[in-house]
Amino acid sequence: MTIQFQANFLLRGIISCETGLHIGGTSEGIEIGGLENIVIRDPKTDLPFIPGSSLKGKMRTLLELSYKGSSENIINSKGDPCKCGKCIPCKIFGSSAPDNKTSKEDNGRQHGPTRLVVRDSFTTANDLETELKSENTINRITSEANPRNMERVPRGTEFKFEMIFSIYEEEDYSNFLKLLDSMKLLEDSYLGGSGTRGYGQIQFKNISFLKRSVEYYTSNAEERKIGDFDTLSDIPKDNEFLIRIK
Ligand SMILES: [Zn+2]
Repeated sequence: MTIQFQANFLLRGIISCETGLHIGGTSEGIEIGGLENIVIRDPKTDLPFIPGSSLKGKMRTLLELSYKGSSENIINSKGDPCKCGKCIPCKIFGSSAPDNKTSKEDNGRQHGPTRLVVRDSFTTANDLETELKSENTINRITSEANPRNMERVPRGTEFKFEMIFSIYEEEDYSNFLKLLDSMKLLEDSYLGGSGTRGYGQIQFKNISFLKRSVEYYTSNAEERKIGDFDTLSDIPKDNEFLIRIK
């Protein structure tokens, strides 16, 4: 089996917030005047954004969970991402630092590099007012209320996303369909914090799908437009479609 770069698939479009979205910025070490639970912001524009790592991490988790109980070789240790380097999630999302570096065969490299790159998603708005939502948690032992403010990106906000999926071997075409599955799973889950309180429902919209073959990079060949799709559900996943994208 040879691993050789053949093409990149580019997915671009809009992430639309169907509910308020909170992707925390405090972990980055930013503390502003006692306001906890702030959202992460692009230091350049000071506008909220969606880090590619947040999107990628959540899609990976959901795809891994969808394999639970199947024959797929997914190693799950304490909720950490699988590091086997062999299963489909590892191929798509990468597997860093295998637990046992016993041989070259045992790490992810035998399946080539990580297939997926997820860019940071910046908002389409020039200006964006966030909202503060008051959340009350009750301490179960003392019954003491613990009110706190959560900053959120309001419902209706749109971000531009870009994902690049690299094709290295024949099975990557079907692995690409699994990426689409993980995006769909994310739409029915949540992004960021407080998902169980209804935050973080998103939708992928206005998706443009391009293919850039190796010749695009080496000899200026044209990129190929596979299609424009209003929603994920509009992207077919049958054999005919697989033939079309090859
Ligand atoms: Zn794995």
